[in-house]
Amino acid sequence: MSKVVAIDGPAGSGKGTVTSIIAKKCNLVTIDTGATYRCIALAALKKGLTLNDKKEIIELSNNVNIEFTEDGKVYLDGDDVTSDIRSKEVTKIVSQISSIVEVRANMVALQRKMAEGKDVIMEGRDITTVVFPNADYKFYLDASLEERANRRHKQNQEKGIEMTYEEVVDNIKKRDYNDMHKEVGSLMRAEDAIYIDSTNKTIDEVVEEIVKVIEGE
Ligand code: C5P
Repeated sequence: MSKVVAIDGPAGSGKGTVTSIIAKKCNLVTIDTGATYRCIALAALKKGLTLNDKKEIIELSNNVNIEFTEDGKVYLDGDDVTSDIRSKEVTKIVSQISSIVEVRANMVALQRKMAEGKDVIMEGRDITTVVFPNADYKFYLDASLEERANRRHKQNQEKGIEMTYEEVVDNIKKRDYNDMHKEVGSLMRAEDAIYIDSTNKTIDEVVEEIVKVIEGE
């Protein structure tokens, strides 16, 4: 039987960072579900579509080919888009793109397929509630808005993504609101998910807390 570790939480809560460390430590395959929605947003931008072109965006999500490689790269229709999907332009529209119910249905199906037969650690917004509500281990990772914005701003600087601190705060606030008010797949705490507030914790402390649970120490 394959194992599923599911982690949900808002932008900047540390999901991505801790997930990749835990994946290596515990020999799990990482599935960054946000990256699948980012691919649709990027594909829409490349086609010159706007958020008004719902029908075309749905069509696009029916036909795209998204692949994750073991070394953490993301391919969209054969192109390496690992850094392009983190651009400011994609980040600005991704939450609204992911609110389209049909797009979500396609991405959830893809995410489940990606996990088939593997031991996975999957992070996103609706993993513990929709994608794998019966996951073996469920976590909700959180942190204060200020801390999440600080982290994301620092990460952006390291990656050469030009967003001011104010832009980051504004984007996170808008995404938080949108992600928590979706028709389907809203970000919420599953009752049986372990809640971790990482505001005053180091990455190592959060990793240790999660590893202890999944390794049953
Ligand atoms: O995790 P990340 O910030 O890359 O996700 C980008 C966006 O994709 C989120 O703001 C959210 O709107 C959407 N998303 C989602 N469901 C998921 C993962 C991400 O709706 N499981």
